[in-house]
Amino acid sequence: MASMNDNPIARQDPDVWQAFVAEEKRQQNTLELIASENHVSAAVLQAAGSVFTNKYAEGYPGRRYYGGCENMDRVEQLAIDRAKGLFGCDHANVQPHSGSQANQAVLLAAMNPGSRFDEAEQREKKPGEPVRTPGDMILSLHLDHGGHLSHGKHVNISGKWFRVTHYGVDRETGRINLDEVRRLARQCKPQLLITGASAYPRIWDWAGFAEIAQEVGALLLADIAHIAGLVAAGLHPNPVPVCDFVTTTTHKTLRGPRGGLTMCKADWAKKINSAVFPGLQGGPLMHLIAAKAVAFGEASKPEFKTYQQRVLDDAKALAESLLSRGHRLVSDGTDNHLMLLDLRKGYPHVSGAMAEDWLGRAGIVVNKNMIPFDERKPMETSGLRIGTPALATRGMGVDEMRKIADMIDRVVSSEGSKAVIESVQGEVLELCAQFPLPGSSSSN
Ligand SMILES: *Cc1c(COP(=O)(O)O)cnc(C)c1O
Repeated sequence: MASMNDNPIARQDPDVWQAFVAEEKRQQNTLELIASENHVSAAVLQAAGSVFTNKYAEGYPGRRYYGGCENMDRVEQLAIDRAKGLFGCDHANVQPHSGSQANQAVLLAAMNPGSRFDEAEQREKKPGEPVRTPGDMILSLHLDHGGHLSHGKHVNISGKWFRVTHYGVDRETGRINLDEVRRLARQCKPQLLITGASAYPRIWDWAGFAEIAQEVGALLLADIAHIAGLVAAGLHPNPVPVCDFVTTTTHKTLRGPRGGLTMCKADWAKKINSAVFPGLQGGPLMHLIAAKAVAFGEASKPEFKTYQQRVLDDAKALAESLLSRGHRLVSDGTDNHLMLLDLRKGYPHVSGAMAEDWLGRAGIVVNKNMIPFDERKPMETSGLRIGTPALATRGMGVDEMRKIADMIDRVVSSEGSKAVIESVQGEVLELCAQFPLPGSSSSN
């Protein structure tokens, strides 16, 4: 760990420093199984904490509203070119501050929100009485079936400004049934069909969705926030060839800084750029764009493919070990980096919240998650989402996954017995000590 003297935060702000040190220790000493999280490299961390944070660079490379942007242009162009190389897209906008904003850019560029104050109807109403004309329709995966808030949940801007219909997974198989998606698409005639998820353990049939979108005249968006790393490594089919838009976060399997990326066909490039800036955002976060450039560079190397293969192998081993101990997984397994443990069968009175809490006390960090046809509330849930990207980054492999499945099983099946939690916590610490974090100050 760096000493006090070369640590400006430690010298100047002990309160923040304490939280910083504690967080580094927490990450080192726990097993991070949250499917959307990862540990970035020292190089990505350095870029994210660099002098690029000092600079305004509204606009795009070569067309800025501020002087002194030559290095901004260089680093943003690197990020753009590398994103295009990784995913094979016509156009990439690397400025969205988050995955949600990457999606909002598509909504703003391509969708009509209708009007709350339709002028023609307004004339026949009392002055000031609002008239709502219907906005365009989104067809997307239901949140409880693995979808994301930004795909039309009523509390999100996507659900407030647009009409929304959801498809779900099949009750028996836990998988998306394209015949059902087609039936709904014919019925609701969406302007935008959204694919992609936060909690779907199976392969996406992009071509099947593209056929449906074409039949009903909808635009197609694939949100690959969770699986972008697998796609970049060629270990999950790439939606870019068949979609109008592809969005992603950069901080999940892709293992970059927190942020978003919006890709599109050439025809949409101008509209997507205007939607991100000035439509949704002001100055881009140039330090994070620099970090995206570094991360995209890492993702184009052969080692990254090896890493993503480990993510998959680990997930398969973890899933098989849980299944062999009698646990139930949604869709009976996984093809990607995550799985959904369904507690309803074996442990009907254990909620996801309870299991998350017990495991957390043992140093195993997971998140409670709604599962398809869940009858519990979102703060309770009947499921856990478990993912391997962070542990694969630390170098943990199939043997470690079998040990971890056993630990999860013991904690859940003992229903949080204090003695079991204590003994598992000891094993967690031992395992963590063998696999240091990349980029932490203690490993520099
Ligand atoms: C994580 C995620 C997002 C949102 O990312 P934020 O950066 O948290 O806004 C969007 N879509 C999907 C499918 C996600 O899993």
